[in-house]
Amino acid sequence: MKILVINAGSSSLKYQLLDMDDESVIAKGNCDRIGIGGHIKHTAADGRTIDVDCDFPTHTEAFEKLVEVLTTGEAAVIKSMDEINAVGHRIVQGAEIFNKTTLATDEVIQQIDDLAELAPVHNHPHALALRACKKVIPATTPQVVVFDTAFHATMPEKAFMFGMPYECYEKYHVRKYGFHGTSHRFVSQALADAMGKDIKDLKIVSCHLGNGSSITAVEGGKSIDTSMGFTPLDGVIMGTRSGCVDASAVTFIQNKLGLSPSEMSDYLNKKSGFLGISGVSSDARDLGAAAEEGNKRAKLALEMLRYEIKKYIGSYAAIMNGLDAVLFTGGIGENSDDLREDVCSNMEYLGIKIDKAANKGLRGKLAKISAPDSKVEVWVVPTNEELLIARDTKALVEGNL
Ligand code: AMP
Repeated sequence: MKILVINAGSSSLKYQLLDMDDESVIAKGNCDRIGIGGHIKHTAADGRTIDVDCDFPTHTEAFEKLVEVLTTGEAAVIKSMDEINAVGHRIVQGAEIFNKTTLATDEVIQQIDDLAELAPVHNHPHALALRACKKVIPATTPQVVVFDTAFHATMPEKAFMFGMPYECYEKYHVRKYGFHGTSHRFVSQALADAMGKDIKDLKIVSCHLGNGSSITAVEGGKSIDTSMGFTPLDGVIMGTRSGCVDASAVTFIQNKLGLSPSEMSDYLNKKSGFLGISGVSSDARDLGAAAEEGNKRAKLALEMLRYEIKKYIGSYAAIMNGLDAVLFTGGIGENSDDLREDVCSNMEYLGIKIDKAANKGLRGKLAKISAPDSKVEVWVVPTNEELLIARDTKALVEGNL
């Protein structure tokens, strides 16, 4: 069975075609600059590549080009789109309407679009891409939607409510939704498999650390709390996002700088975080290099992240009454030995003891990095959201979900 996985943004369309018989990637790529030009980079598993400028006024033309490169030309991997059994789409916000993977009927696509107010950057582009995909890809091919928020639907009310008047929740649906759910679900299951344990018996803190970062308490395979909130702005400091700040600081600065609500939102989402603190870059590698050269604010930004992660691990151990494992994933979590070592140092009280040698140079490999006498196991678990979307899509079309 072949599954096409789509991760659409407002100006891009990332894709992977997977062979689910052995879960291998047949081809992958990205159509970007949609609406402002157009470009496709497509790579087949054997290395054949297409890298050309195109004309993509909308997502529809991008899908047409995708069909063309998959089926014809020098990097083709299939003869016809009929070989693709289903398409799985990543959707950021499913709110309280979608707590599981579902078939993308026209009504479902409209509901995803209607949720755009809760995820302005993501949901409308997802709906545009879904409609474009339905136009271009044979109508007989099922389209499936997998939600980033769905894994967190198990959070109890006391975890997802904010201490604001209840009408904020009832009338305006303001609550913690949590994000990165597809990743947290994938890595926590992969960790249980690697440990040889049933996930139902485990208390895990899952740290997904990348440009966007979130930390989740996974108890018995279920998310019971997570650091991102109403939007992916909350929680730990990120590349350009502030993470958690006192809401009064927001209204204070908005007033001081005379910003509109959407300008203030940009300030917190695009100009804050690593970039805002360091003034150097939003990229953790750049900050590491700047810190080594003595840049104090770059060093501070990196220290803030480490400190905040420690706090989440401690607080999630508290709400779960213990901890069996901590895992690191995402671009920073998988690659930054230093960060993992710093976060896991001085945590013996919680039963966490890192093996410094085992922690070095893993570059995204699945590995246990805790010392043999550590009560809590610590692991690096590479994430693979596309694979989870493909697995869910396969399971749904086969009637197993
Ligand atoms: P992601 O959003 O998961 O792709 O992660 C992107 C982040 O991972 C960026 O901040 C990168 O600087 C960071 N990253 C990638 N490789 C490394 C590395 N070797 N050491 C530290 N950070 C890294």
